[in-house]
Amino acid sequence: MSLLVVGSVAFDAIETPLGKVDRTLGGAASYFALAASHFTPVRVVAIVGDDFKDEHKAIFRGRKIDLSGLEHAAGKTFFWSGRYSQNMNERTTLTTELNVFADFNPTLPEPYLNSSHVFLGNIAPKLQRSVLKQVRGKPKVVGLDTMNYWIDGANSDLRETLKHVQILTINDDETRQLTGEHNLLHAAKQVFKMGPKILIVKRGEYGALMVHPNFIFSVPAFPLEEVKDPTGAGDSFAGGFMGYLASEGSLSEHALRRAMVYGSVMGSFTVESFGVERLAKVKRAEIRARARRFSKLTAFKL
Ligand code: AMP
Repeated sequence: MSLLVVGSVAFDAIETPLGKVDRTLGGAASYFALAASHFTPVRVVAIVGDDFKDEHKAIFRGRKIDLSGLEHAAGKTFFWSGRYSQNMNERTTLTTELNVFADFNPTLPEPYLNSSHVFLGNIAPKLQRSVLKQVRGKPKVVGLDTMNYWIDGANSDLRETLKHVQILTINDDETRQLTGEHNLLHAAKQVFKMGPKILIVKRGEYGALMVHPNFIFSVPAFPLEEVKDPTGAGDSFAGGFMGYLASEGSLSEHALRRAMVYGSVMGSFTVESFGVERLAKVKRAEIRARARRFSKLTAFKL
């Protein structure tokens, strides 16, 4: 199986109650690829500017991450800055500068065209669709993530893209914003009408909820004593989830449930430090150990 992701590769400035960083490597595709590469090889489609140097690329090296679809263009790399509330549950976006992404018109490298799993990471819905169109045949699984910026600013494009998607992964506010429904089960019914047949609602410190037409599954967030920076938790969740699914090659209920756990495992590492720092260092054995702890955390007898 082969997994392709399109999304932002960015510089982020982040402020949380536990500190701040001015310009760190971020972007949905960065978190996604780093998380997914522990499970399966990942092909990245994105664009960076001439301020994106070799030292920034270095973090992706030595992993199963193919960067032949990472275009370099004249101009500045996507820049995002945000600030978290005292309890870290709310985030205010201070700046979104699309920069080189504004005119990005990706052409997939030939070896990417046979991708069986495609993740349309958080970026302009039109771009997501253009990537999907280029993939040869019908991919086995197509997932999509988006955020308020696109739900507000590119709603009809997003709806068009969603028609081709099986799995939608968004957070609870975005789910409500997209569907106009407060109740997540009602929201799922609306999402099913838009195209996706599986809705995954990412709920920050409350974990994630999967609504499938035949079953519902909920996974907690791993209990941590200290969360330093929640940025990228959702993208890391999606990377663990899709990476595991691609490695299994199945969409069975069992595979989907385990994928939810691996998503939550990867998200839990990301929030332990600023940016991609912890995610980039995590070892296979730590991932396995945390997945076992999830199993104990949620086990009970009836
Ligand atoms: P998450 O915390 O999982 O929602 O993802 C945070 C990442 O998304 C950051 O690294 C940002 O660079 C990136 N990001 C923020 N806003 C956007 C946007 N409008 N489009 C694409 N990526 C974004």
